[in-house]
Amino acid sequence: MLAPRYKTKQIFVGNVPVGGDAKIPIQSMTFSKTHNIEATKAQLDRLQLAGADIVRLAVLTKEDALALKTLKSLTTLPLIADIHFKHSLALIAAEVVDCIRINPGNIGSKDRIKEVADACTARNIPIRIGVNCGSLEKEFDNKYGATSKGMIESALYNIKLLEDFGFTNIKISLKASDVERTIDAYTGLRPLVDYPFHLGVTEAGTLYHSMIKSSMALGNLLRAGIGDTIRCSITGELEEEIKLARSILKYSGRQKEGIVLVSCPTCGRIESDLVSAIKVVEKKLEHIKVPLQVSVMGCAVNALGEAKHADIAIAFGNKRGMIIKEGKVLHQVKEDKIVDLFVEEVEKMAEERGKEE
Ligand code: SF4
Repeated sequence: MLAPRYKTKQIFVGNVPVGGDAKIPIQSMTFSKTHNIEATKAQLDRLQLAGADIVRLAVLTKEDALALKTLKSLTTLPLIADIHFKHSLALIAAEVVDCIRINPGNIGSKDRIKEVADACTARNIPIRIGVNCGSLEKEFDNKYGATSKGMIESALYNIKLLEDFGFTNIKISLKASDVERTIDAYTGLRPLVDYPFHLGVTEAGTLYHSMIKSSMALGNLLRAGIGDTIRCSITGELEEEIKLARSILKYSGRQKEGIVLVSCPTCGRIESDLVSAIKVVEKKLEHIKVPLQVSVMGCAVNALGEAKHADIAIAFGNKRGMIIKEGKVLHQVKEDKIVDLFVEEVEKMAEERGKEE
C-alpha cells in the first residue's frame, strides 16, 4: 500500500517548493565545466526542455563561482551550486544561486560555517547537506565505515552545525551507491528530523544499472512516504535522467502524469511487428502529460479484457487491428494504418481529458 508522505518542512529552491505537500521536483546536474558558459547554458536548456525542475552545477574554482551570475541570467531554472571544502566559493555563489550544496563539516572553522549560513540567510536560500557514503568525515568513517549508520551520524552532525547558528532552511541527501544502504540511511534518518529529503543513488552507473538501482531504492522509499525531491544519476545522456525520474514517480504511485503503458511480451500469438509498433507509440506519446492508461496488445485474445482496464487500447490481429476506447471498439482498420490512427486517438483523448481537469 502507498504510505502517506512524511510531513516535512517546506523550503523553496528559487520558486520551486520542496517538501510538505509540494509536488516532488526532479533534479539533475550539468557535466560541463561551469565556467564554460556556452556549454553549461546548452546543458541547462537541454535539461529544461526535458522537464527538469532544478539543476545543480559543480563549482570547483573561483572562475566557476563567478560564472554563476551570468548563468543565472540565462536561465529560468532554479540553480544549486555544488561546493566542497571551499567556503570562499560558497560565499560568492550564495549571492546569486537558489541553493548551496555543501557539507558544513567540510568547510573548516565554526566562523566559516557561520559566514556561509549568514550569507544564505541574507538571501533566504537553503543549504543542502549532501552526505555521500564515499566521503564521510574521518571520525564517522573510522567509527562506522561507509555504512548507513555512518551516513546518518554524519547528517545529524552537519545539521547540528547549522542549527547551532539558528539556520534551519535545510534539505538533506544521503547517497550510497547501492540500494540497501540508500534505503537504510534515508529510512533511519526520516523519523529523527523533519527536513525535506533529496533522494538519489550516487554513481548509479549506466542507464540499465541506474534504472534498476534507482527504481528499487527510490521506488521503495517513495512508496514508504519518504522523499521530497529526486535525482536519478546516470552515466549517460542528461535527458535520460529526467525521463527515468518521471517514470519512477509515476510507477511508484507518487505522481500521476503521462502515459502508463501496458504491452504484450514476446508471445507466439503475436500476429504483427509489435516491437516496431510499440517503439513508435512510445516515442510519439512521450510528450503527453495527462495521465492515461494505454494498452498495446499483440492479438485479440486478451485485448478486450485488457482494454477494460485501459483508457485506450490497440489490439493487432491478422493484418488488421482494433482500437478500443473506454471498453468500446472505435475502429477496425488495416495494420499499416493503425499505429498512426491510434496515436491520433490517444492525443485526442489526452486533449479531452486535459480540458476536463
Ligand atoms: S494478448 Fe495475445 S499476443 Fe498478447 S500476450 Fe496475450 S496471447 Fe500473447
